[in-house]
Amino acid sequence: MTLPTHTSYTGRFAPSPTGPLHFGSLLAALASFLDARAAQGRWLVRIEDLDPPREDPTAAASILQILDAYGLHWDGDVRYQSQRNDVYQARLEQLRQRGLAFACQCSRKQLNGDAHHGDCRCQASSDIAWRFLCPKGDYRFNDALQGEWCESLDAIGDFVLKRRDGPWSYQLAVVSDDIDQGITHIVRGIDLIDSTARQALLYQAFAEPLPAYAHIPVALEANGQKLSKQNLARPLTGENISATLFQALQWLNQAPPADLHGAAPAELLHWATTHWRLSALHGLREQSAPVYFQRA
Ligand code: GLU
Repeated sequence: MTLPTHTSYTGRFAPSPTGPLHFGSLLAALASFLDARAAQGRWLVRIEDLDPPREDPTAAASILQILDAYGLHWDGDVRYQSQRNDVYQARLEQLRQRGLAFACQCSRKQLNGDAHHGDCRCQASSDIAWRFLCPKGDYRFNDALQGEWCESLDAIGDFVLKRRDGPWSYQLAVVSDDIDQGITHIVRGIDLIDSTARQALLYQAFAEPLPAYAHIPVALEANGQKLSKQNLARPLTGENISATLFQALQWLNQAPPADLHGAAPAELLHWATTHWRLSALHGLREQSAPVYFQRA
């Protein structure tokens, strides 16, 4: 009889399908994959399709196809956040019952750039956003790569859980799914580190243990801009996979040996898994992407 294997590590890659995968998002996928596999852990993929007007309808399929072509094979089925409305609704209900979520009609204009603080007791039952009642003070957490990180909750204020125009917020959805999928380790780009305090508050509110966080540096263009779908970084295609993986490993400071140049993706990933050192990225916040991957 084979016993089910239980591992204590479950990681994930959770792209928003706003465009095809580019070098910057490959780094987050690769680092989270290698960290999970090096720990003999599970690695899940979740498509965060919460906001259709900002999405590209072909992106989810193309992201998955490229991950697969790069040998970044995930465990289980891909989860789509667009299908999880009931779960987010139930989480919101839990927060309401604990007095931690409130309905709000305050507009951006009314807030005038300030953070929202305290239940404003908006009475309306329609055309409302839902906000999390954020405590005051600082929130500190430890990041495996960036060390102790401190976030001012006063500056964040009562953040949105569900937008007035309908969509669930990234913060509520990501935490609901990370909890539900048993995610123990989150390796992602440092551009998301500012969201971590809000997410940690939600974990606390749900009385769930916080995962371990590691925020990797962000890939920059030569002009210092973030390499992102929004600024049209070159999309990855099915070509040059081996060379791109090799460059991604170099970028992640893993120092792949020269004789692995041109090796098949599976061989490169095998080497990278057995030699993975997350600590090689310690304290790094940004690094230029190889020129080829910058703005087309
Ligand atoms: N969906 C988010 C993004 O693509 C990332 C979520 C996460 O890793 O926490 O920016």
